[in-house]
Amino acid sequence: MSAPASALAQVVVRSGRDRSVRQRHPRLFASAIKEILGRPKDGELVDVTDNHGVWLARGVINQQAQIAIRLLTWSADEGAAAADWPGLWQARVRAAIAQRTADPNLRDTDARRLVFGESDGLPGLVVDDYAGHLVMQLSTLAATQWRGPALDALQDALHPACVIEREDDDRMRHERPDAKPGPAFAVVRGAAPEGPVVFREGGLRFEVDLRSGQKTGYYLDQRENRARVAAYCRGATVLNAFAFSGGFAAHALAAGAASVINLDSSAEALRLAERTMALNGFEARATSVEADAFERLRAWRAEGRRFDVVIVDPPKFAHHPGQVERAARAYKDLNRIALALVAPGGVLATFSCSGVVDAALFQKILFSAALESGRDAQVVERLTQSSDHPVALTFPESEYLKGLILRVP
Ligand code: SAH
Repeated sequence: MSAPASALAQVVVRSGRDRSVRQRHPRLFASAIKEILGRPKDGELVDVTDNHGVWLARGVINQQAQIAIRLLTWSADEGAAAADWPGLWQARVRAAIAQRTADPNLRDTDARRLVFGESDGLPGLVVDDYAGHLVMQLSTLAATQWRGPALDALQDALHPACVIEREDDDRMRHERPDAKPGPAFAVVRGAAPEGPVVFREGGLRFEVDLRSGQKTGYYLDQRENRARVAAYCRGATVLNAFAFSGGFAAHALAAGAASVINLDSSAEALRLAERTMALNGFEARATSVEADAFERLRAWRAEGRRFDVVIVDPPKFAHHPGQVERAARAYKDLNRIALALVAPGGVLATFSCSGVVDAALFQKILFSAALESGRDAQVVERLTQSSDHPVALTFPESEYLKGLILRVP
């Protein structure tokens, strides 16, 4: 098949670099481009061909970015005119929402990720729903281009109480190096509530303050894992390290944990965790400890302190492949100390949200940590991100969260 007669500029991929495009990977790097026929402006739609002019795909170009093209379709007859795309983008938003509505894992909650970027065919668009209050983040020119249509689709499908737009500065910096950062927070539809929004997750109640400067309202990606880990917590003393707003703690206490310590270095996170405990009537069994987890875990180890269940859910240690080695060392150190705190016969639930540390490497890290700590450990469950953060098989990079539940004799 040769190039269809579209009015779009044509991007020719270097010989030998077309494989990922043929495999429907949604990102094309600038280094893979041989030449551009026509003078497309950034944010415009382009056709992508191989070195011989054979049509491969179509996407949005951004010559300021390393990811020069966000590929959107591999069917020549889909969206050959730029004017088709607002409608196509909207249809994809509607499809993503319909998937979440039908997802059996989301029946027991009113907080969910409605749109997860490339995995939903919508590069750069992320939308979270907290009890009808939507938070939208745009991180590519493509998503910025069809911001209005996306908002209309959300409005029509869900009639939300409000839509709040958040700028994802880190990602936008890669897309538009010269642009000034936009406002961190803008109410773009409806009215934002004065106070926090209360939402449900598995019969428990949580609060999120959509107005606060914090980027993440709540870690929706751990939803199913909180229930998995809680199943081990009946009657247990639990250490919830990197607690944030106490999601794991609340589920553990609901499952009958004897006590939980929420440990976090952020006072703001611990105030949130305390609100969570109070909202669910768990204050009597929960304590907050504000400290650096590495230091405090070491100190407890030195004192011979033990917990039946230790949960370790640190922030991302590696942001790009160059940081993997350093991150692996940090995960190993942290888990070595955490293993020492597990009472005989207890459980360690440990996570990594660094995409560049894959599940196989994470298991090897835990193997080294166990060897060094002199504890045996068995994998009893393998965990991943919740189903509203799906992984497109064509885009394995969207799998970032992994966890292991280890039994520690
Ligand atoms: N487990 C949480 C999410 C954790 S997010 C949940 O289920 O919602 C990571 C948390 O780690 C953040 O709250 C952050 O404040 C905290 N944190 C980051 N570095 C830390 C450190 N060195 N010691 C303790 N807490 C830390």
